[in-house]
Formats: sequence, C-alpha cells, structure tokens
Amino acid sequence: MGFRKYYFVLLVLVLSSISFAAVETEKEPPTKSDKPVKKAVVMYGEQTLFNTLEQLDDEHIQLHYDSLKKLANPPQLIMSQIELFLTVKTLTKLEAALLLDSLFDSGDEHYALINQINLFLIDHDFSDAEEEFAYLEHNSNYPAQLIYGSWITTKPHPYSPELYKTDTTQRLKLVDRSFGDYVSPVDKIVVTSRFGHRWGKTHRGIDLDLQVWDEVKSAFSGKVRFAGYFGGYGRVVVVRHDNGLETLYAHLHRFKVKAGDDVKAGNLIALGGSSGNSSGSHLHFEVRYKGVALNPDQIIDFENKALVAQKITLIKNSWGFTAIPDGVEYYTVRRGDYLFKIAEEYGTTCNDLCKMNGIRRNTPLQVGQKIRVI
Ligand SMILES: [Zn+2]
Repeated sequence: MGFRKYYFVLLVLVLSSISFAAVETEKEPPTKSDKPVKKAVVMYGEQTLFNTLEQLDDEHIQLHYDSLKKLANPPQLIMSQIELFLTVKTLTKLEAALLLDSLFDSGDEHYALINQINLFLIDHDFSDAEEEFAYLEHNSNYPAQLIYGSWITTKPHPYSPELYKTDTTQRLKLVDRSFGDYVSPVDKIVVTSRFGHRWGKTHRGIDLDLQVWDEVKSAFSGKVRFAGYFGGYGRVVVVRHDNGLETLYAHLHRFKVKAGDDVKAGNLIALGGSSGNSSGSHLHFEVRYKGVALNPDQIIDFENKALVAQKITLIKNSWGFTAIPDGVEYYTVRRGDYLFKIAEEYGTTCNDLCKMNGIRRNTPLQVGQKIRVI
C-alpha cells in the first residue's frame, strides 16, 4: 500500500511537472505566434514520463489510471497519454512509427508523448517473432510463387499495378539460406549514376562502371526469369529471388545463363557491355518488387559490398513501394542535401518531413543534422 502511494505521488509529480513545462513553453515566445516546436522537442527529450511508467507493470499503471479517473477534475491529457502508452507497448516497431506520424498529423502538440515514444523505440529491441515476412515456401515451381502467381520468361516487366493494388506495408528479409548473402554484381565499384530523377527522367536503377567483357554476377541466389534483348536495356538478365525481389542487369555483352537457370549469389550470369541505349560500357542494375523499382541504395551499400540491413520494410505509397532498411529512422544530412532530395529518397514529401521534424521548408539543413524520416 505504501509503495503504491509512493509511486502515485511520484507519478503525479512527474506528470504535473511535464504539464507545467508545457504551459511554460507555450508562453515563452511572447511576440510571435510560431509554434515553439524545436524548443519543446529539446525540453521534453530529457523528460521521464515514459521511463517512469516503464518501471511500473501494467497493473500498477492501471491503478494510477483508475485513481486519476476518480479525481473531481480528471486530467484528460495525461489520461489519454497513459492510455496511449499502454497501447504503444503492444505495437510493432512499424506500427509505433506510423502512430508517431499520426500524432504529427493530428496537429496538436503532442511533443512530450512523441519524444517518449521515440525513446521507447530507441531503447527497445523489437523481436521478429510476430513479424510477418512476405516470403515463402521454397519447394514451389519458381521463386516467390505465392507473391507473383506467374512466371513469365518473355519480357522483363510483365507485371501490372493490379499485382500490388491491395498490398499494405510489408517486411522483407534480405538474407536467408535459400537466397544466400549478397554478392556484389561487379568486382570494382564505381557508381556513375544513382537512382532517382535526372534530366526530367526517372532512373530506375544504379549505374556501375565496368569494361566490356567484365564479369557480372548475380547479387543473390535465385532463378533466371528473363535473359534476352529488350529495348533500351539491350541484353538484360532478370533474376527472381525467394523473398520476392527481382534483380535486373542491363547493357550486357554476352549471356552466361538462360531463363530457368538456378543461380547462386555470386554466380557468373553475363559479361558486361554497352548494348541497348547506353553511352558507354556499364552495368545498369535494378532491384524490383512486383515490378516496382526500389532505390538500390536503400538495400545495398555498393561501395562496401554489403547489405544496408538484413531486413527491409516496404512502405506502400501512391506509386508502389519505398524500401526502408531496418535501423533507419533518422537520416544524417550530408553536404549538398536538400529537403526534396531526402524526401524522395525515403518515399515521403517535404511537407511530411517538415511536420515530422518541426522545421519549415526554408529551414537551412546543417551537415550532420539528424532528420527523422520514418
Ligand atoms: Zn542506368
């Protein structure tokens, strides 16, 4: 009984100090009506509402909640925050991230809660146990049969948007016994063009420099779905992998595989060249899911010949999917970055980045600054 009282007094003290701080912050800029976003974030970053609640088990929290409810004037904001806290503990990491988004979108100033959920996300190791991965039985006729329901060897891109229309956000493993670890498709890495918009066109892959006759290897294990000449790609190979990804290798000089061949990660599939619409010899490399081109830089760290993360989240958006590697919630601003570029990289909008980070479109970005991107 004594313990409960002690915790209750402690909790009320902490909570009231936070509400008090909130009032102070709002009052602080007397002349401008600007929302004191940044300041509030910094202030609340050190607060301990979440940590205090964390030390209590759900039963204790419920007791506090019930006793608050009995007050003549129950503190609605605090109570709704406790309600939300109890929910957050049961969410997956992605759900919590989406919840954060909705808090930002709601327009109310939930910065204390937002920061505490952030701290919770950072401090907690989310187990994969309850995660559903969008892959697959390995004994089917062709890789990722459940995802695609087709195996078309006559063209590189046979899929229509119908294939992913009803999809939602999903998780993908990149390393597994059946598709092996990543192997760099070319030996010497010189990136000559990255994914994204350039000169009014969308570049749906990454360009890796090579000499004609250089070896091109499959990045992951899988089955060759297409090997042939196709338009601007020239000679092109598409490999389907068990996790549902397809990798594409274009402007090739000579094929070393044909459709239906099984390949292991690192197996020779072709010799590089300059076929099709290519200004010089290079490998145009794409990573696609259900036909949607993903930014390969979000999946593969080409220069270090490694994966960015072992798992990715494919976030459903208006045009298809954006790949976000695990462990990335914040982006560190590099020289030459601007808001639109970062927004595009993470499949979001400048507006959302501004909201998420409490900044304006014209706020100068500092090199080294961390921007929340998911
Ligand atoms: Zn290219």
